[in-house]
Amino acid sequence: SRYFTINDYPQGTPARELFELHEQELPTLGEGEVRIRNTWLSVDPYMRGRMSGVKTYIDPFELNAPLEGAAIGEVVESRDSAFPEGTKVRHMGGWRDIAQLPGAQLEPLPAFEVPDQAYLGVLGMPGMTAWTGLNRIAEMQDGDNVLVSGAAGAVGSLAVQLAKAKGGTVVGIAGSQDKLDWLEARGVKAVSYRGKDAAQLTEALREACPEGFDVYYENVGGTCLEAALNTLRVGARIAVCGMIARYNENTPSAGPGNLAMILIRRARMEGFIVFDHWAHYPQFLEEVGPQVEGGQIDYEETVEEGLERTPDAFLKLFEGANRGKMLVRL
Ligand code: NDP
Repeated sequence: SRYFTINDYPQGTPARELFELHEQELPTLGEGEVRIRNTWLSVDPYMRGRMSGVKTYIDPFELNAPLEGAAIGEVVESRDSAFPEGTKVRHMGGWRDIAQLPGAQLEPLPAFEVPDQAYLGVLGMPGMTAWTGLNRIAEMQDGDNVLVSGAAGAVGSLAVQLAKAKGGTVVGIAGSQDKLDWLEARGVKAVSYRGKDAAQLTEALREACPEGFDVYYENVGGTCLEAALNTLRVGARIAVCGMIARYNENTPSAGPGNLAMILIRRARMEGFIVFDHWAHYPQFLEEVGPQVEGGQIDYEETVEEGLERTPDAFLKLFEGANRGKMLVRL
């Protein structure tokens, strides 16, 4: 089996040299264990948090030990009768080509007619995150005007489509022309944050949606948050999903100077971690699965080829090189 480790906890943007590829001989399978040949690996922004060496809502990665992450693969050898050879499974033994895990840590793939890798994106953790943030945290209502930052990424691209279906004005913030085009083609008003300070971004958002927003789905932080606060309607709800603009910062930077807008607009701001809501995953699948299968909801993916490229795929998340879900195909 070949697997990646990190040899240090990075300061700032991680360097490519941080990641090391190792090889090991796997022991023979123990009772209840399963060997999986991975076909798709997920790289996600939250993994940066696990590289900071401190416990947050999840333990940090161990130095020089196999990294972990969501993956999909096929069982090639099994000592768990629930997962016979040939079964396709999802599990957390990513960043490697062959995983060996107790059967209890595997999930069979749901049965929708979608490509396997959809269960790492639109019908996996990122999709569930978009659905949870809008419905369970922001309590989105029919006709709500919704603003989404990071709008063309894995989470954001489903968030804008779920919001669109509610009938209000939906505005997405993203960083490149192809992403803005993708959003506009789906009826989302697209605004670039690049080269804009908070005042300029505020102006662009006001132009896109003069009445203001009932819901802000926060993926980015920084100037996006500051501008969004200026454009809230009374009673707005902010679902704080992520703040990727800050993940590579060494020292905490100042928060938005206009936080008083929460008071002025009687708004609510609430953070959430999708794993706390995982009991609702079947409900999410039941609602969103058929729409993905039927093509009413679409999704994009950006694919890097080969295990060796996994760190590059991960680092590209912070350059905005992905449209939709960033994946590695083995
Ligand atoms: P994405 O697919 O959205 O990829 C990351 C994107 O973030 C990039 O494509 C880029 O898009 C944007 N970005 C990167 N750096 C910056 C920056 N400095 N300023 C502004 N934008 C930046 O990732 P995910 O969909 O997987 O995750 C989106 C967010 O959701 C993240 O913040 C993540 O941490 C969070 N998350 C939270 C979960 C939870 O349980 N709370 C679960 C899953 C994700 P662009 O070109 O537009 O800049």
